[in-house]
Amino acid sequence: MSLRLSFYGGAGKVTGSNFLIEGEKGKVLVDCGIEQGNDFAVEEVYGPFPYDVTTIDALVVTHAHLDHVGRIPKLVRDGFKGKIFMTPATRDLAALILLDSSHILAEEAARLGRQPLYDANDVEGAFALVETLDYHTEKEIAPGLSAYLRNTGHILGSASVRIRDGEGTSIALTGDIGNSPSPLLPDWEPIPDADALVMESTYGDKLHGKDDRNLLLKERLQSAVKRGGAILIPAFSMERTQLMLYELSNFFADGSLPKIPVFLDSPLAIHVTEVYEKWGMTYFKPETEDEMKREGSIFEFPFLTKTLSREDSRSIEKSPNPKIIIAGAGMSHGGRIGGWETRYLPDPATTLFMVGYQAPGTPGRRMMEGASSVRIAGADVKIKATIEKLEGWSAHADRDQLMQFAEAALKEKRPKIIFTAHGEPAAERFLAQRIHDYLGGNAIVPEYGETWEITKDSVKKV
Ligand SMILES: [Zn+2]
Repeated sequence: MSLRLSFYGGAGKVTGSNFLIEGEKGKVLVDCGIEQGNDFAVEEVYGPFPYDVTTIDALVVTHAHLDHVGRIPKLVRDGFKGKIFMTPATRDLAALILLDSSHILAEEAARLGRQPLYDANDVEGAFALVETLDYHTEKEIAPGLSAYLRNTGHILGSASVRIRDGEGTSIALTGDIGNSPSPLLPDWEPIPDADALVMESTYGDKLHGKDDRNLLLKERLQSAVKRGGAILIPAFSMERTQLMLYELSNFFADGSLPKIPVFLDSPLAIHVTEVYEKWGMTYFKPETEDEMKREGSIFEFPFLTKTLSREDSRSIEKSPNPKIIIAGAGMSHGGRIGGWETRYLPDPATTLFMVGYQAPGTPGRRMMEGASSVRIAGADVKIKATIEKLEGWSAHADRDQLMQFAEAALKEKRPKIIFTAHGEPAAERFLAQRIHDYLGGNAIVPEYGETWEITKDSVKKV
């Protein structure tokens, strides 16, 4: 008996994470993502899937980021009729993210003069097929194939997936591995029992240097408050925003920061934070759960205002400086933050914090690189503000953490092969080389469309 593993995304192409596992009788997909940013228009994303979707029994989803869930509604629209498995938290987050992205896709499609990839109805159709699966619960999800999820500490509800056949041959996929330790989530769990392992390698060749990230954030915020202007934090809606709210609430509680107004100005981030509140007692680390029990909420504080409507959002301007505005998009490439940047970046009293990855070509990247002006919503905006770039807030494991993950995986039942995927090619190669050189593991960088056959004692490309 053998399992076959094929790479249809998250390897050498821009379509997002997508893996096919075939047993003797059943067929399972793991993740069905779309790349974020400017790649929505790419032909592969809009085109047919490279396999017959009607023959797939089930889809397992690792976590709610778009590059892992973004093409699920299209999969269903194209004829997939199986069950979709994910943790309850991933279900709630993915529903928000996919609805939000369906609006962005509609705008994108109108601009390109083509049909949107999917609409709100397709999202609804997809969620009708969802069945939740908790961590540490083995479940048969297709004829002869079972799934088992473990925490990866990446975002709320994130999981690695192990798929196993009746004889115990298994393939595990990490999804994204978290930047543990996190103040919210438990550390990632090792995967000691896979015959083949697919590992993410986003930061396969980079270090975060996050030793004193809290102290640095606190000091820079104190300076920003002294500067007296608006304090802008462009933030991704999931995990980064909640981390910022959590740290801010601590800084206010211990008196590190004076009581200045904070605005969470992003409908998506507001709803995502509600999901974090809802599932915190199930998914957070024990000490954080204790904190929730003691304090009620760990993301709320008395002078935090959540501005859901456009009207409420506009009223932020009337609030005197200094004030903190947290809004999407995380790379200043859309969303409400653009309006605040247009308004406040020309003011030398303003401080803008960068706490996330800034992709090449985005306004955030240009600001990070010291541009004196930036183009936002079709207009040039002069930058007189102080730009603070803070490292260490990524939700991904860095180079050394990924090596620790690989080492833990290799410890007990040595996987016969580790595939380094879901990274830039250089990062994937670097990680594979190090796993080989330092851990003696058999690591390779898979290519798009490749199929590998895994048995209990062998592995070969077919
Ligand atoms: Zn992710």
